[in-house]
Amino acid sequence: MKRIGSNLRPAEPKPHRNLRNIIRYSEEQKPHNDYPRRIISPPTPKECCTDENREVIGNVRELDGFKFCYKLCTVCGHAVRFFYPAIKSNDKVVREYRAWKRYSAQ
Ligand SMILES: [Zn+2]
Repeated sequence: MKRIGSNLRPAEPKPHRNLRNIIRYSEEQKPHNDYPRRIISPPTPKECCTDENREVIGNVRELDGFKFCYKLCTVCGHAVRFFYPAIKSNDKVVREYRAWKRYSAQ
């Protein structure tokens, strides 16, 4: 017997299938930039991982209203997802977040 609603889609389908984190932190594998498929990165950043040594890989992407990009240390290959501060965004999520922050600061 079929349950009612079993053919309905899940309440919250994942819209970001292509925006999953592509960074794989690994000690065994050598750092390797295979953007946009995968980035093999050392598990921890070192002294070389400064803002100057990190370069943006690929294009800026958007996730839940927040813009981000992948940044890679050119010395050791350590990768991070860098989220831009949402300063000029008109996105609804950001507006609501700001409103909530303003409210909670009072
Ligand atoms: Zn580094």
